Amino acid sequence: MSPPLQQVASDEQLPKYADVVVIGAGIAGCTAAYELAKRVFQVALIDKGRVGGEQSSRNWGWVRQQHRDLRELPLAMKSLEIWGALNQEIGAETGFRRTGLVYVTTRLDDFAQWEAWTQKAREHQMHTKVLTPAEAKALTPGSVPQWIGGVHSPTDGRAEPSLAVPAIAEAARRHGATIHQDCAARGLEIEAGKVSGVITEKGVIRTQAVLLAGGAWSGLFCCRHGVRLKQASVTSTSFATHAAPEVTPGGLSMPDVTIRRRLDGGYTVGLGGRGRVELSPQGLSHASAFWPTFRKRRWGLTLSIGRSFFDGPEQLAHWSFDRPTPFERHRTLDPAADPKLVQLGLTRLGEHYPALKELRVAHAWGGMIDSTPDGIPVISAVDTMPGLFLSTGYSGHGFGIGPGAGRLAADLIADDPPIVDPHPFRFSRMIDGTDLGEPGMM
Ligand SMILES: Cc1cc2nc3c(=O)[nH]c(=O)nc-3n(C[C@H](O)[C@H](O)[C@H](O)COP(=O)(O)OP(=O)(O)OC[C@H]3O[C@@H](n4cnc5c(N)ncnc54)[C@H](O)[C@@H]3O)c2cc1C
Repeated sequence: MSPPLQQVASDEQLPKYADVVVIGAGIAGCTAAYELAKRVFQVALIDKGRVGGEQSSRNWGWVRQQHRDLRELPLAMKSLEIWGALNQEIGAETGFRRTGLVYVTTRLDDFAQWEAWTQKAREHQMHTKVLTPAEAKALTPGSVPQWIGGVHSPTDGRAEPSLAVPAIAEAARRHGATIHQDCAARGLEIEAGKVSGVITEKGVIRTQAVLLAGGAWSGLFCCRHGVRLKQASVTSTSFATHAAPEVTPGGLSMPDVTIRRRLDGGYTVGLGGRGRVELSPQGLSHASAFWPTFRKRRWGLTLSIGRSFFDGPEQLAHWSFDRPTPFERHRTLDPAADPKLVQLGLTRLGEHYPALKELRVAHAWGGMIDSTPDGIPVISAVDTMPGLFLSTGYSGHGFGIGPGAGRLAADLIADDPPIVDPHPFRFSRMIDGTDLGEPGMM
């Protein structure tokens, strides 16, 4: 079941030309389209399904700097600045509120990692507070466990995945971008080694610049053009509750379960670290690159083999551009929620917070999280294919970083001074093997 999502209308006419075609209308594509349209580029934003229909409406809505991989912390900090001004700037509700985020734990190794991160983050002028057991309790009144400590990041916040991306897409349109849904990109037209157009199911758009922001599908799209983007996905379960008593104004992470207060007074509940990995041809071909991360996280992962082996975003496929492609066969990736995980979430919440014992589930859904081997995104030109840019591989934390990522992608395409050093996000690291360290905390 898909979570609620504000609907966006499509523009009727597919343009014959655009300065930039953005493939994928999740947060990565919509923020880039908005930033480019503001700079008066003629932008066509296309999606095989709906604006925000995949990960960008299925996430927990945490907008955080806390526990970011240090390589992307500067971009996360810039993103928080942008989020803070965004509602006013676009004249629409993204749901962003700077409520702070709280993490509490009963596990020594969690606490040790958080303390170490907090020390290192200070070098980036990121200040969060490590909590004593008493302080952790004071920030979670009504909770039962004896927390051994926690962290509090008051400058972090939350936003509404059901509202934010549609609002940003509409803002891009007000600056002149056109939006085309149910419009899969089948492939690229290449002339003399350079991008010269995008072949969509509704016709060709001539262009010299393409931003691929296809989420879990980016690897498959790249593969068709011989570009080796290493990507693998994990399916995760989340659910939304009906309105319930307020125990936190923002996000609260506890062992096994996280909650995020929504504007409507309910909670979005996530099961940290748990998910399903479906074996896939693409995943297997990148197995050695992903092995260290998998080994670290395998306690919470189940392995399966399913339909996606032959027919999902990680199939090995070759298609011709004049007939329907895998993208049109899957307008919206909508994996089923795992009922056992929903039950686990409810049980843990009741144990941690008696006030939340009677929570009622309004919707439950699955979401496919695309990751890179080193757990940070690719926001970069592809040197071997002039005109192709990537903004993808957000590894489970792209919603919060989305506004900064959109600005960085626009900077690279426009050849403007970048908002942060783009080096950590270069695509070439996947080719030459540089900097493919293990991911930091997620
Ligand atoms: C359960 C869950 C919880 C999460 N919680 C958080 C959180 O609290 N905070 C946080 O920061 N992040 C979180 N994330 C991660 C975050 O949601 C993602 O990193 C982010 O939304 C990725 O955005 P995207 O634009 O790259 O991809 P997506 O939102 O997946 O968008 C990609 C789009 O590309 C389109 N597309 C693909 N191929 C084509 C094609 N060939 N032609 C046309 N269109 C195409 C798809 O239809 C899709 O709409 C969570 C993710 C999940 C699943």
